[in-house]
Amino acid sequence: MFCYQCEQTAGGSGCTKSGVCGKNEDIQSLQDLLLFGLKGIAAYAYHARELGVRDEEVDKFMHEALFKTVTNVSFDLNDHLGMVLKCGEMNLRIMETLDKAHTQRFGNPVPVEVETGTRKGPGILVTGHDLLDLYELLKQTEGTGIGIYTHSERKRNLRSLAVRF
Ligand code: SF4
Repeated sequence: MFCYQCEQTAGGSGCTKSGVCGKNEDIQSLQDLLLFGLKGIAAYAYHARELGVRDEEVDKFMHEALFKTVTNVSFDLNDHLGMVLKCGEMNLRIMETLDKAHTQRFGNPVPVEVETGTRKGPGILVTGHDLLDLYELLKQTEGTGIGIYTHSERKRNLRSLAVRF
């Protein structure tokens, strides 16, 4: 195992055989998985909030899960498995929430004709799920000659903006 989640970590660098706190490798792996999932949920939740949409159930789960990994010293395996499964559920939920927030702001996605390939000149390559960010970038670069390039997933969602890709 390798864990460096807290200040008690062995030798100041990482617990490798077992946790100084008593955590074993199964719990450490599940907590790492949970933290990985929480980062993704946090990113989607942040994007939704920027569009004025919050999900109280997801927020509550974030608090519970962080408490479990950061401050709790209960290392029950089934409890952790349940939390990881719930993390997957909450991930889908926040993706739906973000999708609704995008639809409210930018309308329902519809197929449109878009330009593909590249143009001579400077360009910015954009990816991720932050359509508001992309929208602002397109506004700020309008008329500057800077090309904004992205991939199909984002093009599909921005019918009114796709003309510049
Ligand atoms: S195993 Fe426990 S003591 Fe070691 S770094 Fe991780 S949380 Fe801290």
